[in-house]
Amino acid sequence: MANSSPTLPKRDRALVTWASVVPDVDGLGLVADLLTRHTAHPLSWWGDYHHVVGHNLGFAVGVGVLAALLAKDKRKTTLLVLLSFHLHLVADLMGARGPDGDQWPIPYLLPFSNRWQWTWSGQWALNAWPNFVLTALLMTLALWLAWKRGYSPLELFSAKADGALVGAIRNRFPVKPEA
Ligand SMILES: [Zn+2]
Repeated sequence: MANSSPTLPKRDRALVTWASVVPDVDGLGLVADLLTRHTAHPLSWWGDYHHVVGHNLGFAVGVGVLAALLAKDKRKTTLLVLLSFHLHLVADLMGARGPDGDQWPIPYLLPFSNRWQWTWSGQWALNAWPNFVLTALLMTLALWLAWKRGYSPLELFSAKADGALVGAIRNRFPVKPEA
């Protein structure tokens, strides 16, 4: 998604990429749960808040406003951030059935209303084959884009690692000079 526009500045690409994973900050409660597991008062933040706090319209609006404030190309980046965010929700609906068969309904209208609880009967499990195929396809696409454009999602973490990856790919598959 961050690569859908070749003209997007680096900071904006980063915003779009982070938007695709940010709904899962509500899953960080898992850490608290594990840490308190053997105490007198074990927490259950994971079960209580995952797919609730971050997977809804209110959170989407917050993320969109933040993107609009931070982005250089404000209009395009905010639009891509919102698309990226919602693609995450759709992907969760399609292929994130829990190991115990729980569908993790998405209460999309929160915090405004509790009325909608999205589920999809065709949902496959988090560890089912379509997710492996999709992951392989998307990794290939990311590598191809890195080869073509000279940067990869690694740029979010380290320019050096990004340069090394692009260098290795281009070494293996040299880029033909423009005719
Ligand atoms: Zn999610």
